[in-house]
Amino acid sequence: MVCPNCGNKIPKEATHCAYCKLSVEKITSASNYEAKRAIRNKERDRVVLTAYVPYDVNRTKLLLLCIFLGWSGAHCYYVGRMGRGFTMLACLIIGIFCVAIPQTWVLHAYLSGVVAGAFGFACVFTWWFDILNICLRRFKIPVVLKDNEMPNDE
Ligand SMILES: [Zn+2]
Repeated sequence: MVCPNCGNKIPKEATHCAYCKLSVEKITSASNYEAKRAIRNKERDRVVLTAYVPYDVNRTKLLLLCIFLGWSGAHCYYVGRMGRGFTMLACLIIGIFCVAIPQTWVLHAYLSGVVAGAFGFACVFTWWFDILNICLRRFKIPVVLKDNEMPNDE
């Protein structure tokens, strides 16, 4: 398991993260649902972005969303990373728009090709990068840890 607070690897039998002293119980109760609510309520300071997959995120669903709909940022919306999702979708739309735009309209054909290529590439690159990261368990998912107490040395 990977500690959602500091990213340290935690052995199976351990009860605490050796680095930040976060208890395993708190880690296993880390919630993405709570994180999405916190983001909506503008309480981002409660949210930790981590490679740990919390119990309320289905990793298979996340991967399938990313493979089939990742170009639209679907996997980002699923875990509440709205900004990243919207940016991907915006890049894709700008890219398509620049290809579809009538060449006599505004831009020189070459320029519109470059712009379309850059935005389209940014979207596709992020999409494939995220598929790879989900497979490697490196895709960052926002979670909220049980916040009744701060981790302490015990
Ligand atoms: Zn830790």
